[in-house]
Amino acid sequence: MLTVEEALARTCGDVPRMPPEGVPLADALGRVLAEDVRSTVDVPPWDNTAMDGYAVIAADTVDEERGLTVLETVGAGQVATQPVRPGTAIAIMTGAPMPEGADAVVMVEDTDGARQGMVQVRGRATPGRHVRRRGEDVRAGDVVLPAGTRLTPAAIGVAASTGHARLSVARRPVVAILSTGDEVVPVGEPLRPGQIWSSNNATLAAMVLEAGAVPLDLGIAPDRLDATVAALKSALASADVVVTTGGVSVGAYDVVKEAFAELGAAMDFWRVRMKPGKPLAFGRVPAGDRQVPLFGLPGNPVSCTVNFLQFVRPWLRKAVGDPRPHLPMVSAIAAEDFDEPPGRTRLVRVALARDETGALVAHSAGSQSSGVLSAMARAQGLMVLPAEAPSPHRGQLVRVQVIDPGYLDGAGADYPT
Ligand code: AMP
Ligand code: MG
Repeated sequence: MLTVEEALARTCGDVPRMPPEGVPLADALGRVLAEDVRSTVDVPPWDNTAMDGYAVIAADTVDEERGLTVLETVGAGQVATQPVRPGTAIAIMTGAPMPEGADAVVMVEDTDGARQGMVQVRGRATPGRHVRRRGEDVRAGDVVLPAGTRLTPAAIGVAASTGHARLSVARRPVVAILSTGDEVVPVGEPLRPGQIWSSNNATLAAMVLEAGAVPLDLGIAPDRLDATVAALKSALASADVVVTTGGVSVGAYDVVKEAFAELGAAMDFWRVRMKPGKPLAFGRVPAGDRQVPLFGLPGNPVSCTVNFLQFVRPWLRKAVGDPRPHLPMVSAIAAEDFDEPPGRTRLVRVALARDETGALVAHSAGSQSSGVLSAMARAQGLMVLPAEAPSPHRGQLVRVQVIDPGYLDGAGADYPT
């Protein structure tokens, strides 16, 4: 049996990069930069004032009694028509370029507010006071956002302020999703005896979106080789990845491995030393000049979800060039005795909270059976127990993979009303 690390190395060890595409800033949120972004300008582009006030020559402010002649008023977006000379000042608003000759700004609050074209300054200005220097934030040509940056609202603002209306980002991978099973029907349709609604199609599509990719829902194939092959074939032209659920065990109707082989995939089928999610089929099918990876995940909803997070999600994040393709890990204290005997890597569904000292603690999110999706929905994390590690006792420090950034809800975040 493969270890989780071995299975990861084989599935995600060598992931081809998605080609770049240009997108307008309005479509860039959450995307991953394909190239470094360099500033086209100095930021700020010229010396300007950080305050509403008066542009002055600092040396002119030694004598409070002597007023300075106000030559003109310059708003943001305007440029002074004359230089500041000894004995003069120019009224200037935040963001306006510094007039020639001036070397400091005096805040309005430090003046008498100006009367009859004269302003009196309280206190002394020092050269450079309240002046934002050209290029003090960014120099033209500087890399402001490195390739691999996941674009946040502020990062998009940085791109705009440095002259980029469009950005080059990794194309979103398209992930075909196919459930299998004679008993599985689309939600919304009535159930006949023995049938269940598919949860995997919905969960997988949501996880694909969350991973920054595009779901292509192929629906549900019956447990027949021809139908499964036909559904998969239809996806190969447009999909970058194919994910199936169910039919990868050793049951009489488990046709997925055979279907993959029929498509010409160089196939591997592994029993991975993990719980949940032991069976995992993986292969690559040639489609034109591409190799499309096929992930055959187990049908049990929890196994399917956990396996996606361990193997498919990192593949997708690597494909878009995310330098952190794996889910974040935190340390937490086991809040109870767990009953998870060693032998395989165990990924235990846990809810995260804070104890009275503020430390992060992990509670079981409920039944750890691989069919119980409600416990998965209550979990903010997966406690990762290495294969040989004994089951943790209450109070023991454990490592938890954070699957829900909303874990802060349970971890003591406040939501002011
Ligand atoms: P299998 O891996 O095909 O043996 O399926 C394992 C279990 O998962 C069975 O109880 C199936 O009914 C269930 N299952 C398979 N596919 C789905 C699905 N799309 N949604 C919910 N449960 C499923
Ligand atoms: Mg099945």
